[in-house]
Amino acid sequence: MKKLTLQEQDPEIAALIRQELQRRQDGLEMIPSENHTSLAVLEALGSVLTDKYSEGYPGKRYYAGNDIVDKIEILAQERAKQAFLVPHANVQPLSGTPANTAVYLAVCEPGDVIMGQNLADGGHLTHGAKGTFSARFYKSVPYYVEKDGSIDFKKVRQDAIEHKPRLIWVGASAYPKLFPFKEMAEIADEVGAYLVADIAHVAGLVIAGAHPNPAEYVHIITTTTHKTLRGPRGAMVMVTQKGLDKDPDLAKKIDKAVFPGGVQAGPHNHQTAAIAVALKEAMTPEFKEYGHQVVKNAKALALALIEKGIEIVSGGTENHLMLIDLTAYGKGHGVFLEEALERAGITANKNTVPKDPSSPFYPSGLRLGTPAITTRGMKEEDMKKIAEWVARVLEEVKDLRLVEDKKERVLQVRQFKKDIAENQKLKDIKQEIKELCSKFPLPY
Ligand SMILES: *Cc1c(COP(=O)(O)O)cnc(C)c1O
Repeated sequence: MKKLTLQEQDPEIAALIRQELQRRQDGLEMIPSENHTSLAVLEALGSVLTDKYSEGYPGKRYYAGNDIVDKIEILAQERAKQAFLVPHANVQPLSGTPANTAVYLAVCEPGDVIMGQNLADGGHLTHGAKGTFSARFYKSVPYYVEKDGSIDFKKVRQDAIEHKPRLIWVGASAYPKLFPFKEMAEIADEVGAYLVADIAHVAGLVIAGAHPNPAEYVHIITTTTHKTLRGPRGAMVMVTQKGLDKDPDLAKKIDKAVFPGGVQAGPHNHQTAAIAVALKEAMTPEFKEYGHQVVKNAKALALALIEKGIEIVSGGTENHLMLIDLTAYGKGHGVFLEEALERAGITANKNTVPKDPSSPFYPSGLRLGTPAITTRGMKEEDMKKIAEWVARVLEEVKDLRLVEDKKERVLQVRQFKKDIAENQKLKDIKQEIKELCSKFPLPY
């Protein structure tokens, strides 16, 4: 086989990758679950390790030739244990959803009751949302948030006592507060349930000390590695000392569920190596500063938005993300703001707000996060500029109202997208954002 670069072998894909790099350079990535990885992480991810089959675990593989891969996986495990203060870490799950699936396979039988934060209330699909495997094989009893974004623990406790869940999830994808590990642990312990913290969003903040670590409260911790942790797409399942005290076989059960229990077969060794690199980076003083700056930036942005008259769920944020409440502009307004922001160079995502009068497909809010822009080095004064831009973009769409009729609605949104692409004010903002971004180069 000839030794060709990507450019030589496939200029079409190479050009598209360059275009995506340029898009990231010129705009603000404000989807809270995204980040910009380091050059070192990318290098490990794009390495020859992708070629190797390694089904099994270090020292117990189904294939030969894994002495070096064993060392890489052990390093990743040791770093995870050190970073999160846990006695066991499985670093193989291919992504967050398979990691959570492994937890179900390890501790639940089909038909068991599970509890998780409702999807439209900020929870994740895998925590028992309708239409997913987690609601199909288990009996899902969701918990909800109040209008102000807080969880009613009295109600969670009542439901837990009544339904006797086998497993309770704490952690979510769109929750602007610190996760209530202690409160949920009291409930889970009272009913004898496994408590699992899903810290996919805040893992990096936890390592940085900018969010509490759930290790002393929960039995199992799952996390993705590509959000605030700033690693490759991937995930981990960790067992805490509390988990081992509840069930000494818990670590073995988790490992068996990941492989060969059915979530996946061969691990992605290039991904494991990149996770190890990301964990090493996350334990440095620079990263500690990064994690705290992410939260400072989010607080500054929320405050600046509020000063512009924009409504923020729960009146601010305690982590890396915030939810703009657009219900004042009618149901489902998130669709308009998301598209208009994209035209202006800000990538964010439409999202439901607590007690959303609309649906997850046409939600009435927008989710904004600071992990990626903080990686580029932006600070509080830049957040003020961003708030100004968001307010100016909102001005362009705030008089629109989503029509009720479903067919008409599709046509309305289609026409809106055409019109907004021509909006001169948004084009001007895009230019201003590009200028700011040019002062903050990407890490790769
Ligand atoms: C992102 C996320 C996941 C799943 O991640 P994927 O890697 O996309 O499967 C799981 N749980 C929570 C809370 C998340 O936010």
